[in-house]
Amino acid sequence: MGNTCTRNCAFCNISNDPVEKLDTEEPARVAEAAKRLGLKHVVITSVTRDDLLDGGAEHFAKTIRAVRAMLPDCSIEVLIPDFQGSKTSLQMVIDAKPDIINHNVETPPLHYDAIRPQADYEQSLTLLKRVKEAGCRSKSGLMVGLGETDEEVRGVIDDLAAIDCDIVTIGQYMRPSRHHPEVKRYVHPDVFEEYATYGKSKGIKHMFSAPLVRSSYNAAMFADDSEAAS
Ligand code: SF4
Repeated sequence: MGNTCTRNCAFCNISNDPVEKLDTEEPARVAEAAKRLGLKHVVITSVTRDDLLDGGAEHFAKTIRAVRAMLPDCSIEVLIPDFQGSKTSLQMVIDAKPDIINHNVETPPLHYDAIRPQADYEQSLTLLKRVKEAGCRSKSGLMVGLGETDEEVRGVIDDLAAIDCDIVTIGQYMRPSRHHPEVKRYVHPDVFEEYATYGKSKGIKHMFSAPLVRSSYNAAMFADDSEAAS
């Protein structure tokens, strides 16, 4: 959906220059690329397009269907924006039947104004709750090192456990440039392990927590429960 975003999250290096018109050929090209790469698991994501009436949901749905048609055995994960809370837009994505729907909460709620100013923590949790209620596997993630405390991280894990989120990723924030927020702390790998242990104790099936974990890192491991890391 283009190289520029309608939002301006503090941690992100994507430009928020004016967005481009949607490329209607993109879903087919993504499917063709997945085929040529011989992918068994594909993660489809985008910038946020608040300028579009459906937030780009139909474009996501078309891309999922195009990949499914081209690669019927490939598992499909989508990393979606919040669609500004639109239930209708989310339903368009759910109806396309991806295997996993990921939406990152990114940081604890007290840091939203500074880090994710155009988003809303409760709205993101509601989206993830709806994903589960629709019978789809849900996934979310956050970064640490943006000023949050371990207690706040555990609070986010509690919130994700309460909505039965299937997969949670936690990784170290790295500053993309000097114009981005400083890294407030480098979290020790042992502490990442403690987050994972805590999440599992709260009932989250798959916790993936380590400094270099990103939301799509080793994503295929979770596509099939039987192969998932625990
Ligand atoms: S919505 Fe996503 S792509 Fe856009 S600025 Fe935020 S993190 Fe970056």
